Amino acid sequence: MLSPDRSEFEREIVDEVRRFVDREIRPVAHAMEQSDTFPAALVERMKELGLFGATIPEEYGGVGLSVVSYASIIEQIAHAWMSVSGILNSHLIMCYDIFRGGTEEQRARWLPLMATGERRGGIALSEPGAGTDLQAIRTTATRDGDWYVLNGTKLWVTNGLHGNTFAVLVKTDPTASPAHRGISLFIVEKDQGPGFIVSREIEKLGYKGLDTCEVVFDHYRVPAANLIGGQEGLGFKLIMSGLELGRINVAARGVGLAQAALDDAVRYAQQRETFGKQIWQHQAIQLKLADMATRVQASRLLTRSAAEKKDRGERCDMEAGMAKLFATETAQFCALESMRIHGGFGYTKEFNVERYYRDAPLLLIGEGTNEIQRTIIAKQLIERHRIH
Ligand SMILES: Cc1cc2nc3c(=O)[nH]c(=O)nc-3n(C[C@H](O)[C@H](O)[C@H](O)COP(=O)(O)OP(=O)(O)OC[C@H]3O[C@@H](n4cnc5c(N)ncnc54)[C@H](O)[C@@H]3O)c2cc1C
Repeated sequence: MLSPDRSEFEREIVDEVRRFVDREIRPVAHAMEQSDTFPAALVERMKELGLFGATIPEEYGGVGLSVVSYASIIEQIAHAWMSVSGILNSHLIMCYDIFRGGTEEQRARWLPLMATGERRGGIALSEPGAGTDLQAIRTTATRDGDWYVLNGTKLWVTNGLHGNTFAVLVKTDPTASPAHRGISLFIVEKDQGPGFIVSREIEKLGYKGLDTCEVVFDHYRVPAANLIGGQEGLGFKLIMSGLELGRINVAARGVGLAQAALDDAVRYAQQRETFGKQIWQHQAIQLKLADMATRVQASRLLTRSAAEKKDRGERCDMEAGMAKLFATETAQFCALESMRIHGGFGYTKEFNVERYYRDAPLLLIGEGTNEIQRTIIAKQLIERHRIH
């Protein structure tokens, strides 16, 4: 529970971000998305607003927002342009991993630089042969004195082109059994030597304007001091905990996108007339609007409830999974229903609803697919209600 002063402070930040979104992101989103342009000026403004340190504790130079306020900010941003929330999300997961798993020296060295955005980037976990099954990664880090030498290929690295610092998941002991005991996480700076190669930018259906890359490590040397936690074998558990925050973030993006699709539908349904009536007066359209609005509100409440649990420091994999599952399926549902309400115009690039329809499916896949969320939820149900 936040103190009244702290609540007021966080409310002011959320309001400031809302104004930033309305004045600076919303007006440029459509054109920049259509031309697939990286929003460099917005990134600079996000630095000024302290957003790269949103969830970093104040003692390390961040704003120290609660997860509830952070989710609210992400919802606002995704309501205007989902890609911009992607610039923050994986960066803040990296920061969370350093805060939770790093040594005091690592926290003090990295977090203040990440809070200002001077160093920013994301997480390089997935590979061509390992996404859901991260224990199957093949990138290795081999000790060489005070260094580790990284070799392997990472895929789907968000911020890979424009970012400069990444949490990279590797095998320090490829023979370990179970495999997760041989997995470690490193802080890797792109500009510290040869062998960090951004080999290609991946072309995508949506999520435009944001760089998603393949990265090759070719004998890339990383100081042993960059091993998070200072000990091999801690990486897998750490990233799983960071993904709880990531799932709440993706749920919040789902809420923002779904709300945008609903808002556009509510507006259009009062503008368009058929058979002498505004289309909202047809019962078929009313049913759609009601179903969308109900699911959006349920998604928001699920997301808030998971965020509150995370703020209390409680395990919330089931709650974050439920929020992620429901909110992102809602985003997909609302994007299509809004498109249907817009009729043929919804299928054109003149309306934002076409963008929502291309952006929404990523939310079903990222931070653990919705198939996996269901398995997590089911396993937790049994664990919490075991009868034998
Ligand atoms: C635009 C974009 C940005 C991304 N950004 C990042 C990033 O910044 N960093 C990063 O590390 N990764 C990132 N990812 C990768 C993302 O996390 C993975 O794509 C995701 O985890 C799924 O892995 P996969 O693509 O290898 O699919 P697979 O693991 O091959 O899964 C394929 C299908 O099988 C299903 N499946 C797999 N295993 C099971 C199971 N046990 N039970 C039931 N179903 C199963 C999946 O649900 C899916 O339907 C990004 C992906 C995209 C598309």
